[in-house]
Amino acid sequence: MNIVKRRINVKSTVNSSIERHPVPVLGIDYRVKIIYKNIKITELDVEGKTIKISLPNKYKKMSNAAILDLAIEKMYEQIANVEIERAMEKTRIMLGFAPEEYEVKKIPTLGKCEDNKIIINPEIVKYGRKMIDYVVLHQYCHLKFKTHAKGFYKLISKYEPNYEKFEEILKELV
Ligand SMILES: [Zn+2]
Repeated sequence: MNIVKRRINVKSTVNSSIERHPVPVLGIDYRVKIIYKNIKITELDVEGKTIKISLPNKYKKMSNAAILDLAIEKMYEQIANVEIERAMEKTRIMLGFAPEEYEVKKIPTLGKCEDNKIIINPEIVKYGRKMIDYVVLHQYCHLKFKTHAKGFYKLISKYEPNYEKFEEILKELV
């Protein structure tokens, strides 16, 4: 078999920007490009499969690895705030009840329910909307059933008949 040699175009890197390997957002892999600008707050821009994160110049002092981690974390937080609010509202309307409050916060799992309060990990936005909706639905059902008893899954299956498929994926994530 012939091996075709391909010329790879190496883009000259601009001093003020750094790139990194694919970062999943809502189930799609994006490239992330960091740009430093004379701005006060972080800005996000999506162009095709590239996410441009514009950071205030003050972050230039940090190491590239640290800055990327921070930028991606901030990006997940921003998207999570919008996506989780969307899923919370959708589920509230669907089920006809809601938690007293909810919080978007880093926790060891993707979601949890405690004392009428739902907590969702912002990293959930790595996965697709269907998974976000499922994790939110799962936590809502914990408002009625604390444990994974029969009634719990009976309630879930009413709104997501394919719940087992999602539970399988969730098991592998942890
Ligand atoms: Zn559970």
